Amino acid sequence: MNRVYHPTDIIRPEILELKAYHVPPATGMIKLDAMENPYTLPQNLQHDIAHLAGTAPINRYPDPNAADLKSALRKALGIPESMALMLGNGSDEIIQIIAMATAKPGAVLLSVEPAFVMFRMIATFANLQYVGIPLKKDFSLDIDAMLDAIAEHKPAIIFLAYPNNPTGNLFDKKDILKIIEATPGIVVIDEAYHAFADASMIGELANYPNLLLMRTLSKLGLAGLRLGLIAGRSIWLNEFEKIRLPYNVSVLTQHITQIVLHHMDVLLAQAEQIKTERSRMITQLSAMNGLEIFPSDANFILFRVNNATKIFQMLKDKGILIKNLDSSHTLLDNCLRVTVGTFDENTQFIAALQNLLNDNN
Ligand SMILES: *Cc1c(COP(=O)(O)O)cnc(C)c1O
Repeated sequence: MNRVYHPTDIIRPEILELKAYHVPPATGMIKLDAMENPYTLPQNLQHDIAHLAGTAPINRYPDPNAADLKSALRKALGIPESMALMLGNGSDEIIQIIAMATAKPGAVLLSVEPAFVMFRMIATFANLQYVGIPLKKDFSLDIDAMLDAIAEHKPAIIFLAYPNNPTGNLFDKKDILKIIEATPGIVVIDEAYHAFADASMIGELANYPNLLLMRTLSKLGLAGLRLGLIAGRSIWLNEFEKIRLPYNVSVLTQHITQIVLHHMDVLLAQAEQIKTERSRMITQLSAMNGLEIFPSDANFILFRVNNATKIFQMLKDKGILIKNLDSSHTLLDNCLRVTVGTFDENTQFIAALQNLLNDNN
């Protein structure tokens, strides 16, 4: 038999170097690591979904254009009629589609650091060159460095999350507009956390031909269904549509999302509850010694302690899973990120953290 290839013979070197995105096991834990909405849907809505799931035509491929779902999304999210809309299997898939579409040899994807790690990872998957410009110490945009990098690299595409993950803040809107005006390429504003922020760039879509706006239903309460969307000019979206796999949004996702969108008030009330809990947690964390807390417009809170890895591990040992960001970026030294959960989950987290800080200071 001929010798068979080893992965190192045929896999791209930049892929061999990667580590797969790590999702820690969380069975039985208080799960405050992934920005999920902690609330379930009301029982009558659960029953409607059960009925719909049972009768959904799962023997057929889904509607490749998802026309009904798109019009429901336009209404629920206020997407302007003048803008085209493309759906993804989560917004992660949309990032991937845009990266594949723009990956000419030498093309650059530009973002900030720290930012959503998928921007960098997907750039690598797609063979794009990634440039990450550090934020300032307070996690605001370094607008001069951004404008310099735009002039130097002429990025095909810029991704900015608004609010930003993992820092939780909204960038200055005037700075974002300067970036959109300065760059020859497209700018994707990723509003994954829109439900928890009182700001959006949606009103700017009509003003800038190179602006695209991305949203997801994941953080709003439908993480398990996997549905993301991007709105913008059809000259761009028509090109991206060529790369989108025709049946990327399943029959169940299309049907169930539509029912839930009819009850948008339920999701928005849950988001309000999360914002109320966020304020309560910020008040309680602010009162603790040995902890630096950063403002948040999202459904998570970033904070710094003296020994993040130890605190993270001890919380985990007590059954509370948050995210350790220490050593992910120099600006995040000793930083931890906690997702806002239910009242009970947050209360247990706060109590456990308070005990650990008392013991460790
Ligand atoms: C969570 C997150 C996403 C991914 O959302 P999915 O739609 O679940 O793929 C995208 N962007 C940012 C900034 C996020 O934090």
